[in-house]
Amino acid sequence: MIKEKIFFLKYELIKPGSSQYYGQLMHDQYLSLDEIEMLNWNRTRSLVQYAFEHVPYYRKRYTEIGCTPQDIRNPDDFCRLPVLTRQDLMNNFDDLLSDEASLKDVRLSTTGGSTGTPAKVYHPKKETRAAHGWRMLNWWNISPADDWASVWRDVNKTYKSKFLHFLQWFPTKHILLNATSFTEQDIKNFLKKFIKVRPKLLHGYVGTIDFLADYIIEHGIQIPPPKAIWLTSAPITTVQRKKVEAAFHAPVYDQYGCCEIYWLAAECPMRNGLHMFYDTKRFEFLDENNLPVSNGCYGNIVLTELQNHLFPLIRYAVGDCGRRLTHNCPCGCNLPLMDSVKGRVSDTFILPSHARLNGLTTIFDNCPEAVRQFQLHQQSDASIVIRVVPNNDYPDLDNTLEKVRTAMEMAVRHEVPVTITKVSNIPFLKGKLKFVISDYKG
Ligand SMILES: [Zn+2]
Repeated sequence: MIKEKIFFLKYELIKPGSSQYYGQLMHDQYLSLDEIEMLNWNRTRSLVQYAFEHVPYYRKRYTEIGCTPQDIRNPDDFCRLPVLTRQDLMNNFDDLLSDEASLKDVRLSTTGGSTGTPAKVYHPKKETRAAHGWRMLNWWNISPADDWASVWRDVNKTYKSKFLHFLQWFPTKHILLNATSFTEQDIKNFLKKFIKVRPKLLHGYVGTIDFLADYIIEHGIQIPPPKAIWLTSAPITTVQRKKVEAAFHAPVYDQYGCCEIYWLAAECPMRNGLHMFYDTKRFEFLDENNLPVSNGCYGNIVLTELQNHLFPLIRYAVGDCGRRLTHNCPCGCNLPLMDSVKGRVSDTFILPSHARLNGLTTIFDNCPEAVRQFQLHQQSDASIVIRVVPNNDYPDLDNTLEKVRTAMEMAVRHEVPVTITKVSNIPFLKGKLKFVISDYKG
């Protein structure tokens, strides 16, 4: 396809070596699981060695615990290295930069404070991180040169940046709805362009696409189905997935990433879980004492970015809760699987008995069509309010909601009262809907 050839040629000019790197990623996903584990482990060891030699923070921390890279002979040894928290990252920002890096070689990336502590990291300018995205699009039978629609922040504010954006994407058509502020007229314009361009991919914030899906369903608008819908930036509930698929008549795929480490995991069309990008990132799932949980159990996700040597993140506790899946996927790709991220570690209710309640965002999984949105709010007296925007066409709605309420009451072991309140909408912030809020201090 000529458009694709132009795309890759142009990309090669901007980032030499990108096509070769893409080829390598495409190859490595079909290695056997043992070979992928070995590749991951070899890269982990060499990163630890490099960090000890060149990154002041790690040299200091590892020396403090009496550990040298020669002591890290196997994955069990690696588990003895300290976990890097967001607070550590903020407090030791300058010391995490390699002594071989110049500020010209790196780009600063910051995360918003909406999820808790803000963080900033450096990414190497040279890396072709887009190739990880191309591999994911390939799973969905989409070329990076295909037209796509985005519901995202409008980052190109000036004419110069708009022009550069056009050059970067040409000959691909790329339409945008600014997710951070839009009017009904903006939605109408976006959908009009969508119908004209017929993009192969719709990409964007879960919350705003969820809102868009409501609009399409309410107004009975017929949309030319894209091949895939790629939702990002927040965990997707089954409620949202079903609704967005009904509005756009296309499969929704979950992708997991964060600003500190891009491209972590994504679903393939089999949707058996998310394939972890394990050839380039090490994943661990740990309990409160930073010990590995058993395979298949939920734990705090701890990540090591194996390719960023200039600003290494080794055993970074990203603050999300997830689990590794033990089955394989028949799609042919042997990158191991993880479950969808069920929420932030902080999305936990603590009960008066100190019991902890996780996985709260799954409460409507048995009846996703009953509600359009929901939010769980633990009040300062520990009682729980489930706010729902109901789907009034749903048969036997009130009974269904009562069943969900009772299930929640069982989950909290009748320690605190649980009520359900119907509301007309739940406000979302910067395209993100906060599903779990707690004002109870314990
Ligand atoms: Zn698969």
